[in-house]
Amino acid sequence: MSTDYYAVLGVSHDATEEEIKKAYRKLAMKFHPDVATEPDAAERFKQIGEAYEVLSDQSKRSMYDRGGDPFGAGGMPGFGNMGGMGGTFDFSTIVDAMFGGGAGGGRGPRSRVSRGQDRLERLTLALVDAAFGTDIDLQVDSLVLCGHCSGSGSADGSKPVQCRACHGRGEVVSVQRSFIGDIRTTSPCPQCRGFGTIIEHPCPDCYGEGRVRARRSLNVRVPAGVSTGNRIRLESQGDVGTGGGPAGDLYVELTVAEHEFFSRRNDDLETTLEVPMTSAALGAALHVTTLDAEREGCDQDDAAVEVEVAPGTQTGTRLVVKGKGVPKLRGRGRGDLVVSLVVMTPTRLDDQQRELLNSLATARGEDGLIKPVAAKGFFGKLKDAFS
Ligand SMILES: [Zn+2]
Ligand SMILES: [Zn+2]
Repeated sequence: MSTDYYAVLGVSHDATEEEIKKAYRKLAMKFHPDVATEPDAAERFKQIGEAYEVLSDQSKRSMYDRGGDPFGAGGMPGFGNMGGMGGTFDFSTIVDAMFGGGAGGGRGPRSRVSRGQDRLERLTLALVDAAFGTDIDLQVDSLVLCGHCSGSGSADGSKPVQCRACHGRGEVVSVQRSFIGDIRTTSPCPQCRGFGTIIEHPCPDCYGEGRVRARRSLNVRVPAGVSTGNRIRLESQGDVGTGGGPAGDLYVELTVAEHEFFSRRNDDLETTLEVPMTSAALGAALHVTTLDAEREGCDQDDAAVEVEVAPGTQTGTRLVVKGKGVPKLRGRGRGDLVVSLVVMTPTRLDDQQRELLNSLATARGEDGLIKPVAAKGFFGKLKDAFS
């Protein structure tokens, strides 16, 4: 979808800021849903706003000139902008341009067109999806453009009429006598709520708001490596504004669910395995299932790794498997998988096993050999780590 924004505003490619602003003001006045007669006015008005948003912004304009898409890949997550609310689209500059500045300064009627609110949705992800990324269909309740009136708020064909109470000024002046003279107070016209016009025949679907509540299904692309608290921004997927005004943004805040066997520390994954006392003493090769195993269509080679348990391994030994952690959100590579070992003492020995262990103890001269552990030694520190 490549719109020629210069053609939309009817300006040349080397138009100055002032020329662009002027062209926009003229067109926006003409195609404003409150006044326009053309059947495609709402669509044109939207296009004009979009063109102005891009061409009036130095960085967006140069991106557009270079062939880039200043709105990001068709509403895909604007991931460069994670965290922090606040869109890039400043609607007040457009209102300023339309009404020659001073909008919101309490002078003149206020526009029925406003920018919509940003929305925040929450999404809980499985660890595997947070680690490797996923596409999720998110159900969103939000305000969308009213299809019946295309945002104008008026029923078929009708138009707002000038307010008789304020003669279109949007405000009324009251005068109070006081001992220092007359005090003039200006306040928004109660009849038209400051709009200067009255919608005599409101649209039956939106009651004049120009927008209606609807449930939509949105595809959210979650990149690999996200963690709890990350936000994905979907530009212009928030609430549509009143009177067909531009939509706010939608932020999707992520929570990563706990996993039964893996915990995460930054980009590393940690898991704990039990090793029988005999394997710990003699050494063994351990088969460790990776988080990759939960991925759809995971390779057999990636689903598990083999780690070497050296003869004489103790509880608390940590083995690091390089590159089997979580992919890094920004940048390349993955964190590590850290496997902690717990040596299991056998329970429920039968007679033969007890005899074997007794002979072993005698052979090693370990009968009842129990020693205190130095507080600062390896085992002392281990004890602290486990408590
Ligand atoms: Zn009024
Ligand atoms: Zn409507």
